[in-house]
Amino acid sequence: MVPGREAGAVNDSAAARERLIRAAHGLNASGINTGTSGNLSVRIGESMSVTPSGHSCAAIDVRDLVTVTLAGEWAAGQRPSSEWRIHRDIYREFPEARAIVHAHPAHCVALAGHRQGIPAFHYTVALAGGADIRCAEYATFGTQALSDNVLHALQGRRACLMANHGLVCYEESPERALALAIEVEHLAQAYCQALALGDPVLL
Ligand code: 13P
Ligand code: ZN
Repeated sequence: MVPGREAGAVNDSAAARERLIRAAHGLNASGINTGTSGNLSVRIGESMSVTPSGHSCAAIDVRDLVTVTLAGEWAAGQRPSSEWRIHRDIYREFPEARAIVHAHPAHCVALAGHRQGIPAFHYTVALAGGADIRCAEYATFGTQALSDNVLHALQGRRACLMANHGLVCYEESPERALALAIEVEHLAQAYCQALALGDPVLL
């Protein structure tokens, strides 16, 4: 064993969790998520630290985070987010994913209520990795079916809407995942406003 490396790994995990907590607080402070909606995670080796189920992102503390292995196991007595399967499956499918934000931003929810994604009405849709931002097919929250649908919609993308539900995105850090969630909600708002004037021109 290399003592220096061991110590570094522990510090890195602690720092990653602290950064996740700051992103969780920032999520509700940004105005794109409210109350106990939404959840976040950060990947740490072959596990993830995920927010607990039913907690407000605004009030969460690092001690509330639940460690879930990518095999889907956690310590008895803990209760990870009901969407832990989405987080686990994204980390398994996309090795570049290091942090995930799921939220219910109002304009993303409005489009998702119509089961619509965001087309290339503005060049910044490319921030999510492709020529559009898809809307995943509907499935009940917290189910494997929803996770499967999300993974399908995320192929070649870092963000997607979720039918009648919200938004999920991943990035290389908690800060970047939060920033991408805010960008997608901004795009969703602009697209809703563009639609109110008729059909916008697509690039
Ligand atoms: P959790 O509190 O279980 O994370 O659920 C919130 C949510 O947004 C479910 O889709
Ligand atoms: Zn949700």
